[in-house]
Amino acid sequence: MYEKVKNYNFKPFIGDNELLLIAGPCAVEDEDNLTITAKFLLENGIHYMRAGAYKPRTSPYTFQGLEEKGLNILKRVKEKTGIKVVSEIVDISQIPSYEAIVDIIQVGARNMQNFALLKALGKINKPILLKRGFGSTIHEWLYACEYLLNEGNHQVILCERGIKTFETMTRNTLDISSVPIIKGITKIPVIIDPSHSSGRSDLIIPLAKAGVAVGANGLLIEVHNHPHLALSDKDETIDFDTFKELLKQVKMLTDLYNKEVI
Ligand code: PEP
Ligand code: MN
Repeated sequence: MYEKVKNYNFKPFIGDNELLLIAGPCAVEDEDNLTITAKFLLENGIHYMRAGAYKPRTSPYTFQGLEEKGLNILKRVKEKTGIKVVSEIVDISQIPSYEAIVDIIQVGARNMQNFALLKALGKINKPILLKRGFGSTIHEWLYACEYLLNEGNHQVILCERGIKTFETMTRNTLDISSVPIIKGITKIPVIIDPSHSSGRSDLIIPLAKAGVAVGANGLLIEVHNHPHLALSDKDETIDFDTFKELLKQVKMLTDLYNKEVI
């Protein structure tokens, strides 16, 4: 069993009566399209836009992100529109620039057990979104989270993004049970990512609703103004109309559960 459950006495970054919605394209592609997406999200009451500047990809032959240029585009879109930004960090050396620009720093599935990175992020004053490794158990994920907490950073959000199973109809299998399991042992908020878990745009709305129904504190959704042109993860990316439909359906559930969308 997971023996090291600490009774942390701090206010979680997302309350249990709140649902944090984070959305955006997989990657920063160019300033114009990112600005269009930021404005669309703000118009629909979404205050956090996620877009990757550094993309740790399984294949070295796929789009790797615009890197520093992408981070600067994020900065400009943030300044222009006022949206908050979420982006994935891949190396300790990037911490100062992320501290300056990014509102929630994502640690991706492939870096969940990069303990040196976690320890360094544990020392800063920024919310960290810690994705579950696709080959990691819930215990391993919680231990990774404790690397952040033990250094003093309590602004942690866990993100269930699916695990490897034998199933081939989806990219990964969304482990929906991890949400209530984690809620039973810790008060760290946990959100779900239907996009990377399924790899399929047609499953985003049903999985998002399932996540809200099991008590997730938020959703991370890939959305793009022209999904078929997206430079990465286009098959799991929804368009603006589908995103609006998702919002409508999710709001029916949040009303039912007395949760506020933030
Ligand atoms: C991502 O969020 O863009 C991503 C690469 O996801 P994951 O780390 O869950 O694979
Ligand atoms: Mn992606």
